[in-house]
Parts: sequence; C-alpha cells; structure tokens
Amino acid sequence: MAKEELECSFCGRKKPETNLLIAGLDAHICDRCIEQAHGIVLEESKQSESSDLSAELKLRKPQQIKAFLDEYIIGQNMTKKVMSVAVYNHYKRLLQPVTKDDIDIQKSNIIMVGQTGTGKTLVAKTIARMLNVPLAIVDATVLTEAGYVGEDVESILTRLLQAADYNLEKAEKGIVFIDEIDKIARKSDNPSITRDVSGEGVQQALLKLLEGTIVNVPPKGGRKHPDQKFIEVNTENILFIAGGAFDGIERHISKRLNMQAVGYSASKSEEVVDQDHLLQYIIPKDLKDFGLIPEIIGRLPVLTYMDPLDAKTLRAILTEPKNAIIKQYQKLFSMDDIDFTITDGALDHIVDKAIEYKLGARGLRSLCEEVLTDAMFEMPSSNDKKLNVTKTYVEDKLVKTTLKKLKAVS
Ligand code: ADP
Repeated sequence: MAKEELECSFCGRKKPETNLLIAGLDAHICDRCIEQAHGIVLEESKQSESSDLSAELKLRKPQQIKAFLDEYIIGQNMTKKVMSVAVYNHYKRLLQPVTKDDIDIQKSNIIMVGQTGTGKTLVAKTIARMLNVPLAIVDATVLTEAGYVGEDVESILTRLLQAADYNLEKAEKGIVFIDEIDKIARKSDNPSITRDVSGEGVQQALLKLLEGTIVNVPPKGGRKHPDQKFIEVNTENILFIAGGAFDGIERHISKRLNMQAVGYSASKSEEVVDQDHLLQYIIPKDLKDFGLIPEIIGRLPVLTYMDPLDAKTLRAILTEPKNAIIKQYQKLFSMDDIDFTITDGALDHIVDKAIEYKLGARGLRSLCEEVLTDAMFEMPSSNDKKLNVTKTYVEDKLVKTTLKKLKAVS
C-alpha cells in the first residue's frame, strides 16, 4: 500500500490528516484515537476503583480486621477488637441494600480515650490504610464556632476532600480522626453567661457532621478564598473517630465506682477494682461528667480506651510491628549494604531511657535517631559495612544533655 493511502483503522482519517499514525499487526491507529481510548481506560479504572471498596469490604470480617491491626499495633487489644467490630458494622451499613423493613442501622462513630502517644492516631491511620479510604486528621483545638477566629468545623471536610484528591465519592466514604476532642469539653458544669466559643459551641457545630448531613464545603478551605465554589459533601457514610487524653477522667470514674460500691454490699460486688487502670471501667456518663454534651456522646456510640504503654509494650514497639522503627533502620542501612544489628541490652536501655524521661512511644524514634545519627552520617562513605549497636554504644550516644533536650521537645 502506498504511504498516502494509510489510514486510521478506528476513525478512518488518512495519514496526512493525523499527527501520528501507529502501525499494529493488521491495523493502524491515529493520535486522536489513542487519546480517546486512553480517556476511556482512565474512566473505566476510576469506576472499578470505587467498586473495589465494596469488594474489599465484603472480604474482611472483624477477626481479619483485628489481625491486620495486630500487624501494626502492639497491645491495645480491647480497642482493636471494638474497632474491628465498629468498622465492620459501619461498612456493612454502607453496603446495605435499600430495604423497606424500617430498620435503619445507625452510624458507629467511635471515641477513644487514652493518654497521648498510646496509638490513637495510629489506629485510625491503620484502619484507613487497610480499607484504602482517605483519612483526614484534625485537631479539635483549632476549631471554633462559625464567625470566630479559628477554623469552622467545615474545614474538617475540606481536609478529607484534599486527602481524597477531590474525589467526592471517595471522600464520602472516608474516615475523619478528630484528635483532642477532650479539649472542647465544657469547662465547668454550669453553663456560663459568656459564650464558650471553643467549647460547647464547637460541640454543637460538630453534631450535625457526626450524624450525617449535607454540608457546603469550601474546597480550598477557610476564608482566604471567598470566591470559591462550594462542594456539597454528604457526611452520612463518613466514619468519625474521636480521640482524647481526657486528663483527670479517672477521678470521675473512681467517684462513680465508689458510689456504686456504696449501693451494693461487699458480698454482692465480688469484683475488685483495679485502681491503677481505671480507664477500663469508663462509661459514657464519665465523658458527660468531664464536659462533653450528651448529644455528642450519643453520636459517638462506640467508646473504647487505650492502655498506657509499659516497658514491655515499648520494647515490642521497637521491633515487632510490620514497619517497626528498628526494621526501618535496618532497611535504610541495607541500602548502603551495611549490616545493622542491635543487641537486646541496647534495646532495653533505649526503653529504660524512654520511661525515665517520660518520652513515650514517640520518644523511641527520637532516641534511636540520637543513637544512630553519627553512624548514618559516617558509614555510607566508609568501608565499614557492619554496625552492631550494644548497650555501651547507646550509653555513649545518649548522654544526659541529649536526653534532657529530648524531654524538652517532647
Ligand atoms: P496518640 O494519637 O495516642 O497521641 P500516636 O498514634 O500518634 O498516639 O502514637 C505515636 C507513635 O507511637 C506512633 O506513630 C507509633 O509509632 C507509636 N505507637 C504508639 N502506640 C503504639 C502501639 N500500641 N503499637 C505500635 N506503635 C505505637
């Protein structure tokens, strides 16, 4: 066939009418048809992505969800179990076919109570990763009532949209983690005459979001872009997880337990209260006594607690999770062909220091950085391909001033 007679087998354009004509076995395709076909492929994969979520969700049962969490989170068994069920039910609700039986499955938004650094954010992150849904992490302390300095509650959804690359459908099935929810508790039991801008007002504003409503969301957030078009986001299927340290809530728990004890005779209540771990007895009423309004508590029906991290847990956090800190260093060193090992004594010493200086799990990372920075600086350009970190090595690197510095920043 003469060159001029070549044509696109899809649209029939002659070669001179195209920018590019690519030859196949028995056919040709022009640049325009390639672009069009590419568009179709993208559209198709977008659609299958959204049905992926349903497929994935159908597969994982609560025990499988917990097994996944176990890979990344040490301990916190109660929370992992409760979360697995809540997440399973939440997505079951999302997948429920429309029926006429009037049984409306309520949302299973979650509230986690536990000291900072015990893994609350990690739990939310791990669940979002497992489900492959977007996650927005927001701090309740920056939220204020509309019209006041600070961020409106709608900004939460702006973050979620951003996390979902502005894919509305994905955002509407996402997860929002609201940290420091305890900081918007009412300061005292007496509703004061002056308005409580950052407390009860914010709780009120959050209510409708938690429950499920359509919110006009400024896609770029805030007040800096007054001309932007709003996006309507339906929060009906968004899973909200709230977390907070609730410092001092043990007092309320203890008071309540004591009052109950008065009501029962000793023989009736055989159970001995574990005074050192009072959080395990937490009930919604304690949150109310702390200053959350009952409506908020009602919309966060799944209540769970985080155990404080003891030495054994901290030690396990260093080496056991799938992406444990020590495993990460091993990988980093191995990229330079360096064989990195660390002795049990060295690990124990790092844990001891984390406890002594009250650095918590977050501190483990900074401690390891302090210990390994010199080696990470020098070894890639040296011929030394072996690093064995011992207790003495750690002691050398972690001098008192370093530890004090770490404590100051934590
Ligand atoms: P919180 O949200 O409760 O303040 P984070 O989830 O931010 O705590 O925890 C801080 C870091 O400590 C995490 O990124 C993780 O590396 C580590 N960590 C805390 N608790 C655990 C845990 N139970 N298992 C594994 N890692 C943990």
